[in-house]
Amino acid sequence: MDDSATILAERLMHIHARLVRAAQRTGRDPAAVRLIAVSKTHPPDTIRAAVTAGADAFGENRVQEADAKMAALADLRPTITWHLIGHLQRNKARRAVQLFDLIHSVDSLRLAEDLDRHMAALRPDARLDMLVQVNVSGEASKEGFDLVGWEQTPQRLDAFCAAIEGMLALPHIRVCGLMTIAPWGTDPEAARPVFRSTRRLRDTLAQRFPHAAWHELSMGMTDDFEIAIEEGATLVRIGRAIFGARE
Ligand SMILES: *Cc1c(COP(=O)(O)O)cnc(C)c1O
Repeated sequence: MDDSATILAERLMHIHARLVRAAQRTGRDPAAVRLIAVSKTHPPDTIRAAVTAGADAFGENRVQEADAKMAALADLRPTITWHLIGHLQRNKARRAVQLFDLIHSVDSLRLAEDLDRHMAALRPDARLDMLVQVNVSGEASKEGFDLVGWEQTPQRLDAFCAAIEGMLALPHIRVCGLMTIAPWGTDPEAARPVFRSTRRLRDTLAQRFPHAAWHELSMGMTDDFEIAIEEGATLVRIGRAIFGARE
């Protein structure tokens, strides 16, 4: 391993140890939590070093940027998976279907319908795995289905469930769970209610739509991933703790 891979391997080992401890604190199996290395803004060489260091799943937030990097890393394709974690514009949906293994950021029924249509044309025998992005806090971002206060607002939950029903009827996509982004802040504990509410929402959906898979909860980043794991995260999206600060 060269220097950069050695540094990345040390950081990954450290994060993994924290991940294991967080899972064990709440009696969870650490193997049920997958680490997604968020490689946005970092060049292909850095991603290659991260693969040497043991990372096998990468998150990108822009289709065009990811497209160029994946082309440079095509030889690694069989051993790694690519995750789209940023907002997806509908005019990029076709390309996204060709590139990504899991799309975390589906935030409208129309986008899901577009993805379904592109899958039908491009890979008719497969289903695209996707997560539904939700916003339960109001502060974090304007992205995701608006579920602020959903536990007190049945109309909001019902409107969301109508969209979910529409998604579950699409034959070329597979809804696998939920994704959320907690508010930015200095106190990671402040994210706990957001993660807990997202998990409760997932449990509610699993009751209403038991025929669908609701196993994935994509939540937690560099500053709050341990709390997300304590609250049930199965996918944590970590950038800075692995790659250092972004420009
Ligand atoms: C950038 C980003 C991350 C990673 O954030 P870090 O703070 O660098 O760990 C995770 N999720 C999403 C949606 C992001 O845009």
